[in-house]
Amino acid sequence: QSAISLRGLEKTYSNGKRALDGVSLEIPRGSMFGLLGPNGAGKSTMINILAGLVNKTGGQASVWGFDIDEHPRNAKASIGIVPQELVFDAFFTPFETLEIHAGLFGVPPRQRRTMELLRAVHLEDKAHVYSRTLSGGMKRRLLVAKALVHNPPVLVLDEPTAGVDIELRQQLWNYVRELNAGGTTVVLTTHYLEEAEELCDRIAIVNNGQIVANDLTSTLMATA
Ligand code: ADP
Ligand code: ADP
Repeated sequence: QSAISLRGLEKTYSNGKRALDGVSLEIPRGSMFGLLGPNGAGKSTMINILAGLVNKTGGQASVWGFDIDEHPRNAKASIGIVPQELVFDAFFTPFETLEIHAGLFGVPPRQRRTMELLRAVHLEDKAHVYSRTLSGGMKRRLLVAKALVHNPPVLVLDEPTAGVDIELRQQLWNYVRELNAGGTTVVLTTHYLEEAEELCDRIAIVNNGQIVANDLTSTLMATA
């Protein structure tokens, strides 16, 4: 059983743009998986379909064995998504943001790990300030914590280090490695080869809405 399974996934936007042209992909449980491809390849579209933000126009997708159409609640409970844009709740504090989000996912108060998550992403000092006052890097870390409130087995990060400075990039990488070592399946999209090579055990290369390669990183690098 895969962590994420895509079968013949298609997306044609209403302006006629065909962003996904029959994508089939199995992401193994426990892996650290990279979706690598240039801007416009279709990576975000794939993620946004899994996040329920974009409707697919063909094919199937499932998360942790749950089809997103047939079992949307189970699929949603199985995945945490860190979006590319720094969308966040500006007039709430990080603490409130995580509590509210945990509530949305039905996590009972005594099972919430709000301060633990804030510590994990080094935001414990900012727990009670308005999120709009956070730096870009802090906002991204808050989004990572937010994606984890319901303890999903799969974490997906869309271009996690785009526009992020080197120090924070290393911090994020280390944190993501720890999560993966702890058993979380991690999927990230990137257009940086070095990022995928450094972090991921498997890489799928996306181009023009199609998967053009999919292999172990070591195998892919040996043949590149
Ligand atoms: P759908 O085709 O799934 O209904 P929409 O057409 O509603 O999606 O997309 C929402 C809006 O996002 C569109 O009006 C579109 O103009 C805009 N948009 C966002 N990103 C892009 C992009 N990269 N290229 C073109 N339009 C975009
Ligand atoms: P990536 O994440 O790999 O950069 P995207 O999935 O964002 O690629 O985009 C794939 C293609 O779909 C691009 O050509 C993009 O311009 C187009 N696109 C993305 N969103 C929309 C939208 N809402 N409406 C129309 N076209 C879009």
